[in-house]
Amino acid sequence: EDKGEDKEKVTHKLEPDTELRFEVEAGATVQLELTKGLAEVFGTELILNKKCTFQGGSKLAVYTFHGCTVTLTGKTESAYIAKETPMTMYVNTHAALEQMRQKADEEFTRGPRVMVVGPTDVGKSTVCRMLLNYAVRMERAPIYVDLDVGQGNIAIPGTIGALIVERPASVEEGFSEVAPLVFHFGHKSPGDNLTLYDLLISQLAEMVNLRCESNKRANTSGVVINTCGWVRGGGYHSIVHTAGAFEVDLVVVLDQERLYNELKRDLPDFVKVILQPKSGGVVERSKETREESRDNRIRQYFYGKKNDLFPHTFEVKFNEVKIYKIGAPSLPDSCMPIGMVVQDNKTKLVPIQPSQSLSNRVLSISLGEVGDDDIVTTNVAGFIVITQVDMDRQSYTLLSPSPRPLPRSVLLVSDIPFMDIK
Ligand code: ADP
Repeated sequence: EDKGEDKEKVTHKLEPDTELRFEVEAGATVQLELTKGLAEVFGTELILNKKCTFQGGSKLAVYTFHGCTVTLTGKTESAYIAKETPMTMYVNTHAALEQMRQKADEEFTRGPRVMVVGPTDVGKSTVCRMLLNYAVRMERAPIYVDLDVGQGNIAIPGTIGALIVERPASVEEGFSEVAPLVFHFGHKSPGDNLTLYDLLISQLAEMVNLRCESNKRANTSGVVINTCGWVRGGGYHSIVHTAGAFEVDLVVVLDQERLYNELKRDLPDFVKVILQPKSGGVVERSKETREESRDNRIRQYFYGKKNDLFPHTFEVKFNEVKIYKIGAPSLPDSCMPIGMVVQDNKTKLVPIQPSQSLSNRVLSISLGEVGDDDIVTTNVAGFIVITQVDMDRQSYTLLSPSPRPLPRSVLLVSDIPFMDIK
C-alpha cells in the first residue's frame, strides 16, 4: 500500500481473511470504493465500483473472505490492515443461528433469540449488525432489539426499541428504520431508573412476541438483542432480566470472562452462553466521544443521516400539550402513602409545568392519549425538542421532523439535552 498523509487517494490490496480498519478524520469525509474482489462492511457486501461516503469520526472495517482491492479517498486516521480478526468466530455464530432457524422452519417453532452482552466498547452493536446482515442475506427477516439507551441505535438515546430487519444495513447509514417499535426511557443510563428500564424491557418483549405471532418469517428468523455496556450490579441484574423476558436461547459474551462465568452460573441450563473475543479494531471511546455520538444521533433524527432532511419549527400553546416525566423523586419508605412502594414511584407519570428548564430537551411523543393509564408502557411516535419556552405568550417553540400539528398531545420529557445548533 502506498502511504502518504497528504496524498488523497490510497489503494489497499487485502489478502483473504483480513480487514482494513480506518477512522475518518473529524470534519473530513472519506470515500471508499471496492475496485476488485469481494468485501463487506460489518456484514453488508460492498458493490463493485460504487463509492460510499463516510463522515468525520466514523470508524470502519472492510473485511474480505476472499481478497479484494479497495481505494480510500480523503483524510483517514490510522488506516491499517489487520490479519487477526475474530470474524471467523462471528460467522460461526451466524452459522449456528442459521441451523436453529432451519430447525424452526421444519418444526414450526420459534427461531433463535440471541443476546449480545459485554462492557462498553467491545463491538456489541457491530456484532449485532453483522448477525442481522448475515441473516438477511439468507432471506431471513430477524427482529433487532436495541436496549442500549446510551446510544439508541434504533431511535435516539434514551429509548429502547425493536425493528424487523428485511434488508442489509446500508454501508453508510445503517439499518433503515421503517416502523420501529420504540419506548421512552428518558435517561442515558439504565441505572437512572432500573425499575422503569426492566418494565420497558418486559413490555418490549411482549410486543416482540406479538409481532412474531403475526409474522411467521420474523418468528422463525429470531431476535438479535443489543444491550448496554453496564455489566455490574444493577446492569448485570438487567441482563439476567432481559434473558428471561425475551427467553433467549443464546448469549454471546464479548470480551469478559467474569461476566461469562456469572451468566453461566445464573442463567438456566437451556440457555447457551458463549465467550468470544472483541475485535482489535473496536476503538475505545472517551466520555466526550460518547456524548458527541449521542448528540449526533439526535441531530441525525432531525436533519437526516446525510444532512438531507429539513425539520420544522413551530409554536404550540402550553395548553395544547400535556408534558410528563416518568418517575417521581424517591421518597424514603416512611414518607410514602400507606400501601405504596418505592417501585410504583419509579414508574409514575408526573405532570410537568411549563418552565424554562424544558428548553433544549428532547421529548417523546407518546402514542397514548391524555387520561390513558398505560402511557408509561405505550410506545412513542417520534420526538421533538423544545427550543424555546415563552412564558409571556404561553407557548413552546418546537423542533419537529414533521410540520404542525403534533400527531398526539402527550409528551414525555427526557433528561437528555439537545441544542439545535449546527
Ligand atoms: P459497543 O456496542 O460495544 O459499544 P460498537 O459496536 O458500537 O461497540 O463499536 C464501537 C466502535 O468501533 C464503532 O464506531 C464501530 O464502528 C467501531 N468498530 C467495530 N468493529 C470495528 C473493527 N473491526 N474495525 C474498526 N472499527 C470497528
